[in-house]
Amino acid sequence: MKVGLIGLGIMGKPMAKNMLKAGYDLTVSDLNKAAVEEVVAAGAKAGTNQEIGESCDVVLTMLPNSPQVKAVMLGENGVASYMKAGQVFIDMSSINPVASKEIAAVLAEKGVEMLDAPVSGGEPKAIDGTLSFMVGGKQEVFDAYKPLLETMGASVVRCGDVGAGNTTKLANQIIVACNIQALAEALTLAQKAGVDPQLVFEAIRGGLAGSTVMNAKAPMMIEGNDKPGFKIDLHIKDLNNALDCAHTVGAPVPMTAEVQEILQWLHNNDGGQKDHSAIAQYYEHMTGIKIGR
Ligand code: NAD
Repeated sequence: MKVGLIGLGIMGKPMAKNMLKAGYDLTVSDLNKAAVEEVVAAGAKAGTNQEIGESCDVVLTMLPNSPQVKAVMLGENGVASYMKAGQVFIDMSSINPVASKEIAAVLAEKGVEMLDAPVSGGEPKAIDGTLSFMVGGKQEVFDAYKPLLETMGASVVRCGDVGAGNTTKLANQIIVACNIQALAEALTLAQKAGVDPQLVFEAIRGGLAGSTVMNAKAPMMIEGNDKPGFKIDLHIKDLNNALDCAHTVGAPVPMTAEVQEILQWLHNNDGGQKDHSAIAQYYEHMTGIKIGR
């Protein structure tokens, strides 16, 4: 099977290397020539949109957001203009599910099937090949390409038709952001009331309030560590997509709107490149305390 991959950033580069390790014939492209050279050195070929569109059985993208995926696939000289019936497109970027459906509809006119297959897990799991894929698309297309995705992920779950993968990803991002906000708010309250946030964390982490978010982010808040695992600006992008999708389908998302305002405040105050646990810094700014310090 010949595979094309466009987008060799933090995530795409290690994902490309895992497909190469699994023996796939891979052609890659990115605006960043250094990233292309690194993946070519690992065994891939470099290709243009035309070469990838004409020669690959399946074309993958791992790009920042909907406008980039639309430009690369459907723009002037886009990959889709070189694809024919029977080829498949899999978008692994986290984009607006409304855009996923729009792209799938254009490709369907050419007989090209599409899966939307965003991931969670971040760079460490991209390197280990243990990402979680949330996939939307036809069952038979999913079944045919699940083994390819399994070279990059430990979990590959079909959530429904095209758009369902990115809808699931938006649900994930809403839950993570609101959890971080609740944690920051609660630890701020504890500190203001004179109780050590570290002891609060230790006392409640095994109960109903405990969570993966709490275990990962409470220590960061208490240490004042905002080194990014997942950046504020990327979370703003995802919640903008969540708000847009929610307004399109008529779902109420007041919690998402509120936490988005806090993320936006952090972006406006030089926090865009910080870890999303820096939501705690908004509460610290409002109260004049430092959580745990
Ligand atoms: P990134 O910014 O590191 O990489 C994006 C790559 O796309 C860059 O190398 C850029 O040069 C390339 N690119 C942009 N426009 C292009 C174009 N027109 N043609 C060719 N190449 C182009 O981003 P990333 O962290 O790798 O994230 C990619 C996607 O995965 C995003 O949707 C992100 O939300 C999602 N994601 C990221 C993480 C994470 O922890 N970084 C985790 C889960 C999901």
